[in-house]
Amino acid sequence: MSRILAIVLAVAIAVGLYIISQSPEQAPASQESPATSTGANTSVDGIGLIDEARINNADSEPGNWLAHGRTYEEQRFSPLTQVNQETVARLGLAWYKDMGTNRALESTPIVVDGIMFFSSAWSRVYAVDAVSGEELWNYDPEVPGAWARKACCDVVNRGVAVYKGKVYVASLDGRLIALEAATGKEVWQVNTLIDRERPYTITAAPRIANGKVFIGNGGAEFGVRGYVTAYDAESGKQVWRFYTVPGDPSQPFEHPEMEQAAKTWKGGEWWKIGGGGTVWNSIVYDPDFNQVYLGVGNGSPWTRVIRSPGGGDNLFLSSIIALDADTGVMKWYYQTTPGDNWDYTAVQDMTLADMTVDGVERKVLLQAPKNGFFYVLDRSDGKLLRAHKYVAANWATHVDMETGRPVEDPALEYVDSPKFVLPGPIGGHNWQAMAFDESTGIVYIPAQEAPFIYGMNKEWQKTGLYKHVPGAWNLGLDLGGIGQTLLANIDDSPPAGGILKAFNPLTGEDIWSVKHAHYWNGGVLATAGGLVFQGDALGNVSAYNSATGDVLWQFNAYSSILAPPITYQIDGVQYLSILTGSGGGELFTGYVDVMASTKYGNYGKMLVFKLDGNTALPEPSLLDRSIPEQPVLTASAEDITRGEIIYNETCAVCHGLFVNSSATIPDLRLMSEGSHAAFKEIVLGGIKSSGGMASFADLLAEPDVDRVHAYIVSVANADRAAAQQP
Ligand code: CA
Repeated sequence: MSRILAIVLAVAIAVGLYIISQSPEQAPASQESPATSTGANTSVDGIGLIDEARINNADSEPGNWLAHGRTYEEQRFSPLTQVNQETVARLGLAWYKDMGTNRALESTPIVVDGIMFFSSAWSRVYAVDAVSGEELWNYDPEVPGAWARKACCDVVNRGVAVYKGKVYVASLDGRLIALEAATGKEVWQVNTLIDRERPYTITAAPRIANGKVFIGNGGAEFGVRGYVTAYDAESGKQVWRFYTVPGDPSQPFEHPEMEQAAKTWKGGEWWKIGGGGTVWNSIVYDPDFNQVYLGVGNGSPWTRVIRSPGGGDNLFLSSIIALDADTGVMKWYYQTTPGDNWDYTAVQDMTLADMTVDGVERKVLLQAPKNGFFYVLDRSDGKLLRAHKYVAANWATHVDMETGRPVEDPALEYVDSPKFVLPGPIGGHNWQAMAFDESTGIVYIPAQEAPFIYGMNKEWQKTGLYKHVPGAWNLGLDLGGIGQTLLANIDDSPPAGGILKAFNPLTGEDIWSVKHAHYWNGGVLATAGGLVFQGDALGNVSAYNSATGDVLWQFNAYSSILAPPITYQIDGVQYLSILTGSGGGELFTGYVDVMASTKYGNYGKMLVFKLDGNTALPEPSLLDRSIPEQPVLTASAEDITRGEIIYNETCAVCHGLFVNSSATIPDLRLMSEGSHAAFKEIVLGGIKSSGGMASFADLLAEPDVDRVHAYIVSVANADRAAAQQP
């Protein structure tokens, strides 16, 4: 059975649609623990002073966390040392705030002058006293619940930006919103979407510099065209827009870079599906060159033979692009995965550093994208300096350092028959931020080895034609048959797992690595106290010795964790904060039993620690995960088989392959009698739309819904019987 679990784990896709929500979203609640400390120097006036100069000099005020990665370099390394290898054992909970949601929380807070600003699920924003946790204000952009269907990976948000008296958040439904930092009152909002009918979403934290806010979007699994827009921070007026992939060839190029890119797309009608190339996570501003770097995502559809049948690199998919921050004109690009065929996004957090490489002092950019290679680029011209594998990766043998191109292993081309490939679409590393210690040159990566079986779309194999289905996933793969393909090839699967590793990007050497029981864990923080902090799927917040990887402190949060920790210091007291609540990329996995969120429920909380903190976190009771008796099954075997295909194409990305889901999105084997009875009203009628489970009447006819229901019941019956075996 463990073999099967490993395989199921292996097919995790960073994805999510929404079906039945048995536990409707609660309203945002204020259930703070009793304050353990009061009298913070909360000064909302001080917020008005955050600007480039202050972020550029962030090291002169290490008590604050002024920008997404703390500084413009986004190293996520804090100079604070009160919590260190000697004292960390005394770390305890100072306060916590119940976020009133069971959806994934991924936000990096900003802490300035005693106030903490962060976002929650559904793009909600909170300002709290960073010492006591007392809520100062909250803001709800009122994202329509049905928009969740357009989100691949839950209704998440990765954070806000704070600048010159305003707080900026991008909403799931594609708006960029500026709020008064002192009050949370809306100042302006703009629609960033070129077409609100297309399945665009925004989950990223905006970045700000030179009076401009930079924001991209996501949606490449469904089918969109990627772009990034710069807006005037004061007025919200658009300054420039940069598309990452070419559009409809019958239309003029929007900017010269698109003419260059179009030459690398050959045949096919990618623009109808969208082409992809979404910048859904990392945009980094570089004050040394006045450049912004875009981390560009995968192709849409994933399969290159459908997207661009004549071949070509398909610029600028899976690339790092440097733009002039003022004009949006491209200065250079480096493509990590030419002709992307695997969902190998290069959207992972980018880190800027000064580094001596081969005896030369260089300003470098560091990134560990999904494809398994760790890149060191020269920021002045994009020159490739290093590309070592940081995890097991079999799709390419190495990167040719002369050409800068990966050398693919032709044995793993999957156009003729399904192949297990490492990394899978969840990547060797995903959006969970890494941390970098410039004094040692060591990077701490929340890495993972999660293989996936890629197999071509059946209809395309038969006819050479591929049908774009609006509102559904358009990967070009055989998503419907994936469960059976997986089981048929089970013996070929490489093992899967999560790893926190200390890695030398110049030598490719692992300094140390810690294995996790589940691959989908949290982002990382490193500190001058000789510590590396990370939350994990089992619900532990851990402090590791940064030199050895030894665990020096651990706290049971009773909820799986994805968000990166940060640290700040107020009135001489150092704090560590982290949000709990998983989701997103673990949705398409049956390997959920070890997750804290499966055992206890996925309760989003902001946890804040300090030395000798003594607030107790109540231990939740274990969830009853026993499968109830199912309705009588009358469907034919043929209908159940068909139901599995439809389920995999439409439902599995949220509710899990083999109908096996964690507590983030309901496990349909556990449906109540009432949900069984209302199944059609839920799936077709959209009666749970406000919680994210919108109607699927555009994709599914009534007989198909019956077939899906029959498949769910058949799996539930089998699993119930297996659980009752002595
Ligand atoms: Ca993707």
